[in-house]
Amino acid sequence: MSAARGRTGPGANPGPAEGWEASPDYAGGADAFAERLQAFSSLEKLGGFALGCTRCRLRAGCKGVVFGEGHPRARLLLVGEGPGATEDALGRPFVGRAGELLDRILEAAGFRRQDVYISNVVLCRPPNNRIPDDAEIAACRPYLQRRMDIMRPGIVVALGATALRALVDARARVTQARGQWHRVEERWVLPTFHPAAVLRDATKKKPVWEDFQMVRDLYRRLYGALPAEAAGVGPAEG
Ligand code: SF4
Repeated sequence: MSAARGRTGPGANPGPAEGWEASPDYAGGADAFAERLQAFSSLEKLGGFALGCTRCRLRAGCKGVVFGEGHPRARLLLVGEGPGATEDALGRPFVGRAGELLDRILEAAGFRRQDVYISNVVLCRPPNNRIPDDAEIAACRPYLQRRMDIMRPGIVVALGATALRALVDARARVTQARGQWHRVEERWVLPTFHPAAVLRDATKKKPVWEDFQMVRDLYRRLYGALPAEAAGVGPAEG
């Protein structure tokens, strides 16, 4: 997500079509669509299907679907809000200024980008980088669920309020929920501030650093060593 954002609330920019209709492959209620996604047993196949998605109106206003990237069996999944302009242009998540900051945060905690998987709650860029609305989040949520079912990450970091609402609790506030582990299904979910929020407000830098120390510590407890340590790439910051 790009850092400099003119944020507006849900509904302030209604997007390209009031009466948006998905093409048949992508239409239907959440349960039926989640059932359809069961047919895809790998991230590659799921991503291939998602690239043609027209399930919500966001698709009409972006260049393309930004499915996500990283290690397909990563034990650590990072989930942001939605692609920004740079991500939409390049088709990759977290590659703008916020992405560069996320890379530095990961590195400081001992993780390499190739060891984790990074995606967003909505896979298409909302117009003017506005916050995705509830309908858009609900439309795209089955992809996130299926991705987690395929990958089975033990740890998920919810980057920002939208990811927190999609992953933990629709009413939760990131200022209150961050820094605490939430058990969701068989995963540990840690909400923290979105890197774009850190770029806008430097006081959030320390809490985010502390949250990623918690991620590092739990990863070592669950899996014995960080991926770089296990690969003998050198000791991580301790
Ligand atoms: S945001 Fe998600 S549900 Fe909406 S069109 Fe894009 S991929 Fe499909």
